[in-house]
Amino acid sequence: MMRWRGVMEEFRKFLPITERTPVVTLCEGNTPLIRAGRLAARVCPQAELHLKVEGANPTGSFKDRGMSLAVSKALEHGARAVLCASTGNTSASASAYGGRAALPVYVLIPAGNVALGKLAQAMAHGATVIQVEGNFDQALAVGKVVCEDEGFELVNSINPFRLEGQKTAAMEICDQLGGAPSHHCLPVGNAGNISAYWKGYREYLAAGQIERCPAMIGVQAEGAAPIVRGHVVEHPATVATAIRIGNPASWPSALRAVEESSGAMEMVTDEEILEAYQWLAGEEGIFCEPASAASVAGLAKRSAAGLVPEGARVVCTLTGHGLKDPDIAVSVSPRARTVKATRDAVRKALRG
Ligand SMILES: *Cc1c(COP(=O)(O)O)cnc(C)c1O
Repeated sequence: MMRWRGVMEEFRKFLPITERTPVVTLCEGNTPLIRAGRLAARVCPQAELHLKVEGANPTGSFKDRGMSLAVSKALEHGARAVLCASTGNTSASASAYGGRAALPVYVLIPAGNVALGKLAQAMAHGATVIQVEGNFDQALAVGKVVCEDEGFELVNSINPFRLEGQKTAAMEICDQLGGAPSHHCLPVGNAGNISAYWKGYREYLAAGQIERCPAMIGVQAEGAAPIVRGHVVEHPATVATAIRIGNPASWPSALRAVEESSGAMEMVTDEEILEAYQWLAGEEGIFCEPASAASVAGLAKRSAAGLVPEGARVVCTLTGHGLKDPDIAVSVSPRARTVKATRDAVRKALRG
């Protein structure tokens, strides 16, 4: 077995890099694609279901695929520092890759709305963390301006290299499945990832690696569903903080992905998201963060509405690891009981 070298080396011929591009990598990619039989029986018994576990990336989310390329390009361009606005995972990834490249990293996060694990990562990697009084959309707007003032590289998904790196997930899925799925579901926040996947599938089709592209199903949270509703959401609200975005930067390209692939943009409630989150952890052994479970909740909803055909081959992307947001996991689970350290007490507790 050859050692996996990270997405830049493994997909080099599909990426805008040259011999002179330094490669900053943590060997991201090569994440598991797992067949989910119990979950399929529950949500789409007529179809085959596979889960792309992107929480298995080095910093625990798919953001690493794009960050490898974006930070490498920042180095190539001679950027003085990298900066991002973030609901959490972008900052965790930028902090790791930027730190590895010996670039200063600045992260702007919406005050009070970032999951604990993600904040801990940015801090551990030595980034300068600045809490902005406002939501993600406001943090991104101010981040853009500051990057222009200071000559920093903005590594949000409006940085085209981010999407170039992220498209490798679609290619990897085709390699793992031995072909393209018929349907691909993924959560949508700033809408970069759905755009990146669509680019990846189309390029694999053009290169003769696959014979068709899947229908792209984007899933938003009801309280943060600007694309489904067709207008900006001023005050986005959802338990799934990674997709708590009211004005997605990649809105037009996400719509194009959905239209060109004959897919759909769906929305689900927080209750549906948390239900799917618990199915995944409890029945498939896969602990993802709430935003990730939106993909499965969206699939369940469409399947119940008769919109997933017999024999479909579905992939859901689980975008980030459950440990990112331990507070949610604990809050939706029953409390652990405390008993005396005796055989009787423990045996009694076993029976509930
Ligand atoms: C960033 C992120 C998303 C949303 O991706 P977009 O490209 O912003 O649409 C979804 N889930 C997780 C865990 C994320 O980190």
